[in-house]
Parts: sequence; structure tokens; C-alpha cells
Amino acid sequence: MSSVLLLAGTAEARALATALSQIEELKVTASLAGVTSDPPELPVPTRTGGFGGAEGLTDWLAEHRPAAVIDATHPYAAQMQRNTVIACTRALTPHLRLLRPAWPKRPGWQVVESMSDAAKALPAGAHALLTTGRKDIAPFAARTDARFALRSIEPIQGLPPHIQPMIARPPFTVDQERASFALLGITHLVTKNAGGSGTAKLDVADAMRIATIVVARPAPPPGPRAETVEQAVAWLHRVVAT
Ligand code: NAP
Repeated sequence: MSSVLLLAGTAEARALATALSQIEELKVTASLAGVTSDPPELPVPTRTGGFGGAEGLTDWLAEHRPAAVIDATHPYAAQMQRNTVIACTRALTPHLRLLRPAWPKRPGWQVVESMSDAAKALPAGAHALLTTGRKDIAPFAARTDARFALRSIEPIQGLPPHIQPMIARPPFTVDQERASFALLGITHLVTKNAGGSGTAKLDVADAMRIATIVVARPAPPPGPRAETVEQAVAWLHRVVAT
């Protein structure tokens, strides 16, 4: 029986896990980083926690010998993406990066290369909604001349008083986004270009003429890539005898 390691943590990974679970004679192991305490369950056996860098993943591949690895982590999971390429190259394991398409650039977007540049782009006195996640908060913490609402699924410890937590789990509707922007008096939206269906915040920011600062995606890794679950399944059928 062939086996595949699916690096998960996204809606596409869940959809891919479902599609792969229906292929007979394929053993699927999903992997979650373990950063959220109550992730939606996957329909395949799942391991949780980091591998221990590229070295640890190389060891895991040597021990479990999957026929292929599909990296379906978030487009901004740059470290996992790097580790996958390094480990799979060492272990001679075919690998695929599943990357949902980025949102097309909208008029009025300010696209910046890093969280530091996003923080620098904000004027003094701004009240920005940060939908950029739990990492890379330091540049915004340093901007004590501005205020922030930081949206995250899990509580984040140790935030300074000018960064207010907003605990909420997506998806968000246009009505919910409009209410949040209006209630908080948001002047700027800072977001990653995650792609996918979560565009309500972008639509509401456009409609309310709220300046949107978009942190550009990390460069994609070398090697084969897919944009959809269907393409990933087709790649797997080509690479692995199923
Ligand atoms: P990252 O910076 O690329 O990865 C940091 C470390 O987390 C990796 O080096 C690895 O630890 C571990 N890791 C990440 N994904 C893993 C997986 N699927 N299975 C096992 N270990 C994993 O990633 P991140 O940005 O912190 O994201 C962590 C997870 O949250 C990812 O699975 C991603 O899909 C999900 N996520 C991220 C974002 C985002 O905006 N970055 C948004 C939504 C969901 P070791 O080095 O010890 O192996």
C-alpha cells in the first residue's frame, strides 16, 4: 500500500484529506503544527506537533517512507515550506506544494514586503485591524503612536495596551466585518494575501474606503505546485501508483 504525508493546517488540506481518504490502497497521514488548541478534525490519521526542523522531518521520512509529501500548509507557512523541500530532497521523496491562488491586487492596496514595512506604512494615530496572525507582532508593538485590534483564533499573551485582542474564528460575513470596522472605528486594515474565500474584510474595507496594507506572500518553493485540491490529487495519481 502506498502512503502519503499531508502537511495540513488549512481548509484546502482538510478538503484534500477528504479526497485522499476515498482513494483505496492509499494510507494518508496528516500533520498539524499544533498551534490551535481545538482544530477541526481531519478524516485521516493525524499526528500533531513540529518535526524538529528539516532534520527532524528528514528522519521522519526515513522512518515512515511515504511515497510522497503534499505541503498544504498556509501560503505564509514559509518555514514549513522550506523544511519540506530540504527534507524531501534529502530523502528523495516527491513533494508537491498546494498553494491557493493569491487575491488579485485591488486598486488602492498598498503592498509591502514584510510586517515591519506594514507597521512603518501606518500613519500616527491610525487604528488598524491586524488580521496577520499571532506571529510578527513586534513591529506593531513598537508603534505606540497607533492603536491596533489584533484578530486571532487563540488568545495571545503579553500584548501591550495599545494592541487590543479580538478573539474570533473565521469565516466572517460582510455584515460582521462591517460591524467590527464601524464599532472599533478602524482606519486601516493590515492583512496577508491569504487568497481563498475570506474576502469580506477586503470588500468592506473597499466599501468603507479604509486603507488596506497587504503583506506580500513569501516566494513559492522550488518544485511542483498545485493551486487546487483536484490538481493535487491528479499529481499524486501520477507520482504514486494508486
Ligand atoms: P511556519 O512558520 O512555516 O512553521 C513553523 C514550524 O511549525 C515549522 O518549522 C514546523 O516545526 C511547524 N509546523 C508548521 N506546519 C506544520 C505541520 N503542518 N505539521 C507539523 N509541523 C508544522 O508555519 P506557521 O506560519 O507558524 O503556521 C503553523 C501552522 O498554522 C501551519 O500548519 C499553517 O498551515 C497554519 N496556518 C498558518 C497561518 C499563517 O498565517 N502563517 C494561517 C493559518 C494557518 P518543526 O520545524 O519543528 O517541524
